[in-house]
Amino acid sequence: MYRCCSNRAVGAALSFVVLSLFASRGAVADDLCGGVGPPRPHPYTAISSNAQKTSTTLQGIFFTSDYDNGSLVSVTSAGTNTFNCSILTEDSNEGLGTAVYNFRFKMTGVASKTITLNITHTQNPRPFISFDGLTFRRMTSTEAPNTSKVVLTFTAAQNFGEVAFYDPLGYAEIHNRVNQMAVSRIGATTEVIGQSYQGRDMWMVTVTDPAVPATNKKRVWMHARAHSGEVTASWAMLGFLNQITEDSALGRRLRKNCIITVVPTENVDGVYLGLTRWSAQGMDPERQWDKPTPINEVQNLKNKVDLFMASANPIKVALNLHSTVSQFNDSFFFKHLQPSVTANFETIQQNYIDALNAATTYFDNLAPQTSQLNATIFIESYFWNNWQENVMAMTHEGHYYYRTGTTTYNTGADYFEVGKGMAAALVQYLNLPADSEVSDWQMY
Ligand SMILES: [Zn+2]
Repeated sequence: MYRCCSNRAVGAALSFVVLSLFASRGAVADDLCGGVGPPRPHPYTAISSNAQKTSTTLQGIFFTSDYDNGSLVSVTSAGTNTFNCSILTEDSNEGLGTAVYNFRFKMTGVASKTITLNITHTQNPRPFISFDGLTFRRMTSTEAPNTSKVVLTFTAAQNFGEVAFYDPLGYAEIHNRVNQMAVSRIGATTEVIGQSYQGRDMWMVTVTDPAVPATNKKRVWMHARAHSGEVTASWAMLGFLNQITEDSALGRRLRKNCIITVVPTENVDGVYLGLTRWSAQGMDPERQWDKPTPINEVQNLKNKVDLFMASANPIKVALNLHSTVSQFNDSFFFKHLQPSVTANFETIQQNYIDALNAATTYFDNLAPQTSQLNATIFIESYFWNNWQENVMAMTHEGHYYYRTGTTTYNTGADYFEVGKGMAAALVQYLNLPADSEVSDWQMY
């Protein structure tokens, strides 16, 4: 694995860069992930400057974002135990605008202190905090009194704190969890499908029952985290993987009747770099499917999609996992409508949405979204242009606010359950043959 150079050249001091959401939906009409502002003129802080990987000691506290998924441009003192924290505004190299909301960093030397961090978190009123770097929780209203600062009190025993925009999962954290499941659970094999622009391995997990012949098995495809900061996608992917490798009647039923391929992380460099959206090249991995020579990350996926579509088990269901800013009552799919697709395809998409709604209480389809499918640039465009109604392909968007139907802030665990539901929904959607142990899925 190529370890990106650790020069600490902090790009232009982006003091207090707080570019709130300009999400000009016109620019990204059918991609509501958001968090994108208008393009900025050159010179700007190129992603390649690694400006968001920094370390400094102030007032006896060591601040660092120089690790996997860490992201913070600078910290400056603003009074006793008070610090201004600036987060990265990353510029697209395609003129698609700036993306800014993600951050993650560690602090050591905070025992018995109450510290104030002036940091913008407009897109998530209650960021996450950890006192051991392993388990994270939502901040309380006292800890996050508004969207421009957090106030953290550490006990004498708490000399460490880690702050993150949302329940974080970095490159290694995701792959460790995936490997753990692949090794300890059932029916999973992993392979490297290629390298990213910066040379990181991109993995794919295949789950099926090898004892059952592949004939008639339905292939299901899932990829997550095309956009680097959209971490709810990773939690949903882990829940999905957990369900399809489960030692249960449902797990067995899915493995007997399906070949399920999961790419845990598409934008591996962006995740490692702690970016909000773009790839290490400042490109949008979501918008490359019409390019003759797309960026590595997309080419690696495309190679597999083309291979599977030419095989005896072509993809029947393709799930593309994202996160969105702004407040929604529920996570949602982008259901594509006529005239960009057929009336029958609207029904096909709705059948999967209804199956998920029936499969879990963590999704109630309370915030349905529709759009016209872009003619060329998305993976869904690619599936439609080449295979039309044969592939039920949709994007799912998680959000950073409340648990479905409640006013309790959601966490990664909520999306883990949504992901489990996405797997369970395949039974109804694909009408998988029942066997003696069928009763399990009816529990959902
Ligand atoms: Zn996205």
